[in-house]
This record gives sequence, structure tokens and C-alpha cells, in this order.
Amino acid sequence: MEAPGTDFDEYEFECTFCKDNIRPPATVCETGHAICSRCGRFLEDHPTCAGSPHEARCFATDNFARLGIHEPYPTVECNCPVSLTSRSQCPWAGKLEEIKKHIIQNHDKRIADKSGKFSMPFTNVTSQASYSLVISTLGEVFLRRAQIRDDNFYLVVMYIGPIKYASRFKYSFTINKKNSVENISICQKTRSFTENCEDIYRSRNCIKLHYDVVSDFLLDNNDLPNMMEISRV
Ligand SMILES: [Zn+2]
Ligand SMILES: [Zn+2]
Ligand SMILES: [Zn+2]
Ligand SMILES: [Zn+2]
Repeated sequence: MEAPGTDFDEYEFECTFCKDNIRPPATVCETGHAICSRCGRFLEDHPTCAGSPHEARCFATDNFARLGIHEPYPTVECNCPVSLTSRSQCPWAGKLEEIKKHIIQNHDKRIADKSGKFSMPFTNVTSQASYSLVISTLGEVFLRRAQIRDDNFYLVVMYIGPIKYASRFKYSFTINKKNSVENISICQKTRSFTENCEDIYRSRNCIKLHYDVVSDFLLDNNDLPNMMEISRV
């Protein structure tokens, strides 16, 4: 086969929802985003743009998809990330490319607004604690994990999907001191859900603050209010 040209972005031949390679029959939403037939069946609106996903067949996308110029989607078996949160348990396990559909159908709590901003305090903060939160926004699903131990506060936002897409997103974390102008705001790139958290903490590809610093920002009830925003890089 001929080498694919470099003047078009491979992204256009992936489903804009599940990121799997599109196989015919492809459709486009009313904005023009390509959607694979598997996702088109269950989506009521296209999360990327809120347009109707059932707008039109796209034969051009079909033809590009038939060229078969992409590596197959990595087949990784995962547990539902909601099982990582202390309060809820979900027995679901399956392929990485099905997690988004599972979360949007079963656990979507609309924590973030359309622009990726959210504010969920860490509660009962002590020098030994861990937190997990599933967030769906920007047509994607993310997992916020935080861990306090060994006098450090670690925070990472993980993209639920393959590593190669994780660096397309970044997140910011801001804490404000009550009745004061003092604040801390840090930005980092998202990591992939398929990566090991311990490796991320060790390599510092996360937010790391000394616990003494964080404890100055706690409320009287030991909650740590914070503002976060996930956005495209
Ligand atoms: Zn799809
Ligand atoms: Zn769309
Ligand atoms: Zn078309
Ligand atoms: Zn689940």
C-alpha cells in the first residue's frame, strides 16, 4: 500500500467519540464530526458539540476508513474506574474503548460544566487519605485521583483512553485561602488511565505539594475546596 499522505490529520478518520478507527458505515453529526456506527447507535447528542449524531452518512469517511491506514485500537481489559472510589462499587469490566460508553450510560453525574470546569472538595483531609472522582466533560471521560501520604499531597487527572491521546488534554488545580488573597494554581498534562499511578507520582508527572502547604488551606471541617479545569492542549 502507498504510504499515507501527511497533509491530512489521522484524527479525522477516527470516531470523534470512542477514538476507534472508523469502519463503514460512518456518519457525521450536524457539525460535521465523524462518528462510527457503533457509537451512533447509542448517542443521543454528540458530546463534543451537542449536535445530533444522526445527521448524515459520510461516504468520503467510509472510503478513507477502507484505506486501513491506522494501527488497530489497543485491546486493553480494564475494570470500571468507579470501583476505585471508596463509596461505590461497579462490577463492570471490559475493553478500554467501551469504558466511555459504560460511564456515560451508568455513572454520568455531570460534575463538570460544558467548558471542563468543576469544583469538588476533598473531604475529611488527613495526612493519610486517598480520593477518586470520575468526570465526563469535553466529550471525554477522566479520573481525578489524589493521595496524601509521606507528608505529600499528590494529584493527577487521568484520561480514560489510550496513552497516545492523553497529552491532548491539560488540567489546572487552584486552591484559595479563606479570607485572603493567597492562592496556589498549578497546571499539568493529563496522563492515561492505563498508566500506573505510583509511576506517575514517582516521576512527578502530577501535581505534588508538601502536606504542610495544603493543610494551611483546609477549612475548619478539614475540607479542601478547590477549582479545577480540564481543557484541550
Ligand atoms: Zn465510535
Ligand atoms: Zn459533533
Ligand atoms: Zn459525506
Ligand atoms: Zn461502572
